Amino acid sequence: MIERRSITVEGIVQGVGFRPFVYGLAREAGLAGFVGNDSNGVFIEVEGESAILDRFEADLVARAPVLAVVERVGRSHRPVVGGSGFAICESRAGPVAETLVSPDVATCADCLAEVFDPANRRFRYPFTNCTNCGPRFSIIRGVPYDRPLTTMAAFAMCEQCRAEYEDPGDRRFHAQPTCCPDCGPSLKLLDPVGVEVTTGDPIVETARLLLDGAVVAIKGIGGYHLAVMADDEESVTRLRVAKHREDKPFAVMAADLDQAGRLVELSDEAARLLTSARAPVVLAPRAASAKVAGAVAPNNRGLGVMLAYTPLHHLLAAELGRPFVLTSGNVSDEPIAYQDGDAKERLAPLVDFILAHTRPIEVRTDDSVIRVVGDRTVPIRRSRGYAPQPVKLLDRCARPILACGAELKATFCLARADHGFVSHHIGDLENLETYTSYLAGVEHFERLFDVHPEVVAHDLHPEYLSTKYGVARAEREGLAAIGVQHHHAHIASCLADNGYAGPAIGVAFDGLGYGLDGTLWGGEFLVLEGADFTRAAHLNVVSLPGGAAAIREPWRMAVAWLLAAGVDPRPLEVYERNRAQWANVAKVCQLGGLVTSSVGRLFDAVGALCVGRDRVNYEGQAAVELEQAADACESGSYRFSLESDGPADGPLVLDARPMVKELVGDLLGGETVGRIATRFHRGLAAALAETAGRIASSTGIMTVALSGGVFQNEILISEATAALSARGLAPLTHRQVPPNDGGISLGQVTVAARRLA
Ligand code: ZN
Ligand code: ZN
Ligand code: FE
Repeated sequence: MIERRSITVEGIVQGVGFRPFVYGLAREAGLAGFVGNDSNGVFIEVEGESAILDRFEADLVARAPVLAVVERVGRSHRPVVGGSGFAICESRAGPVAETLVSPDVATCADCLAEVFDPANRRFRYPFTNCTNCGPRFSIIRGVPYDRPLTTMAAFAMCEQCRAEYEDPGDRRFHAQPTCCPDCGPSLKLLDPVGVEVTTGDPIVETARLLLDGAVVAIKGIGGYHLAVMADDEESVTRLRVAKHREDKPFAVMAADLDQAGRLVELSDEAARLLTSARAPVVLAPRAASAKVAGAVAPNNRGLGVMLAYTPLHHLLAAELGRPFVLTSGNVSDEPIAYQDGDAKERLAPLVDFILAHTRPIEVRTDDSVIRVVGDRTVPIRRSRGYAPQPVKLLDRCARPILACGAELKATFCLARADHGFVSHHIGDLENLETYTSYLAGVEHFERLFDVHPEVVAHDLHPEYLSTKYGVARAEREGLAAIGVQHHHAHIASCLADNGYAGPAIGVAFDGLGYGLDGTLWGGEFLVLEGADFTRAAHLNVVSLPGGAAAIREPWRMAVAWLLAAGVDPRPLEVYERNRAQWANVAKVCQLGGLVTSSVGRLFDAVGALCVGRDRVNYEGQAAVELEQAADACESGSYRFSLESDGPADGPLVLDARPMVKELVGDLLGGETVGRIATRFHRGLAAALAETAGRIASSTGIMTVALSGGVFQNEILISEATAALSARGLAPLTHRQVPPNDGGISLGQVTVAARRLA
């Protein structure tokens, strides 16, 4: 039977090659009709045999372009009109432009084939892209997404590129950043003083230099990277010293899955992520045969690997023949350099050469990082390839909301209707340059998504720069301000991430967050119902001797915990190493002052006790090393106790002091660090499940959301989810935004939206 259907497609369907895709699909099926854009997305009318139309509709979703996110498909019947041929028609203007901006996308197979085809006019051209791939978010200055509003504006298309751009049958139909060697950006190899190196082929020359041991800054999609050969111990060490980065692992770039498979153990999930169009850094267990310098990821059994994701990377990787370190172009905690002048200034002292190019970067975006734990993925950093794709919100926002996020690993989130636009990873706001880029980012997002916030959501910590910004802005512009407790935001974020409305039991384990009672929380069991929460249990409270000093120096937390547990520290190595200051710190603990229920700080104490990590070079280092030390064969665990403390309706207290006593006994008894580390992890997971179980039986709530930076820990996630499932509880973990403070802004939006409803 012949029929005619009107189909509407909503989601990320503009600027992603959706119309040419529909055009191709309709042509292939021999259907008549047309396709166009309107303010809601894409509208289609097609006419043909019912069975063929059904297949066409199924293919619309199943074979959609990599960049497209189809959120809704609507369909209605129309009178048959006859006719033949299929056309792309003019866009219909609508009242509200619901613009979604695509993330940057890894080079597609078609473009890659062209780049390596000597007969193609784009042979070896490092900026080749098409409607299915290439830079997007990082080059967009404004909307509508058209070339003049991208950083490609300065490059006028040549005749051939223009013809492709205007041909609906071409892969480059309306590909805004399209270009070729005749009309597009070009590479420049510079020495650190900025003098151009004369060479026939900058990529061949860069490869030669790298193989010779050089450190080279390479301009990419969202900023500059620093590159050295991954198996060159001397160069990697030189890079570490130059970057002032003592221990934090470097990521390694591989040419393809084959090469990556020789670096890390590839699960199906890891392989899927690596080869996805988002091309994140994937953290996976290092392969036994990996030929990687020790200095790439010291004291770490894992390795961060990504695949080449631009033609430039592919060409370089092919030239090099083996993996290379590709780490962010910055010094220690500064944001990565992305503007040419800034890069020259900041990176020149660190490198031997700079491989730059002439396409400007509008928005700095770091590589995204995802940890793979079995078949579970844990987002660690959400940026390139993911931002600014919105997270679908369960509650429609009655009014537009700006959520300001936290302080470390900061992101913000702009929400309108049922979309939460979580920003790219911005970084640690205490750094002035990072804070400046946070402000610029907020402004950029508001312009890009045409959202003018009427409500500002912020953390309760008065000293977070994001809180100060949010409160001041609300005051200045007369906006409503909603304070959201840090761990409430963590759990709300995990629920939003899973599209789960609640109620839920939330387990928030992290470094530190400002509590409702003015103390620093971080080992929290919350019950979330509606827009509110109650604190159902928490880790027992100990001193935080010296405040920020205790974060930098985990041995101070060992002092606090040993004191709390009533354990004599003198026979312990941690005491020997820190003897000179021990008594003073113990006195600080006894005087009262700052206290915390943080599990992150408990990890610090155990890390100082077991792996000798007295001072950290990056946040969470003691916990990372403790996890790395754990012996997978051990099946024992330490006991925590669980008691109600004070009034019957008050929170339960999960007491870790019995665990500390047992652990110290093992240490003094000569037990291996590997076994002790495992017993600690397993004990904590069991205690978590027992506490959650107790709360579940009193509330009847069976869903348990796990969030907070501590849940980047692979052993804890695996053990905790298994222990919860064994009790018949349903664990939820993060999938789209990180469990660390990078996910806080989404949680703030969710809570604020609920409060407004
Ligand atoms: Zn392409
Ligand atoms: Zn051209
Ligand atoms: Fe946190």
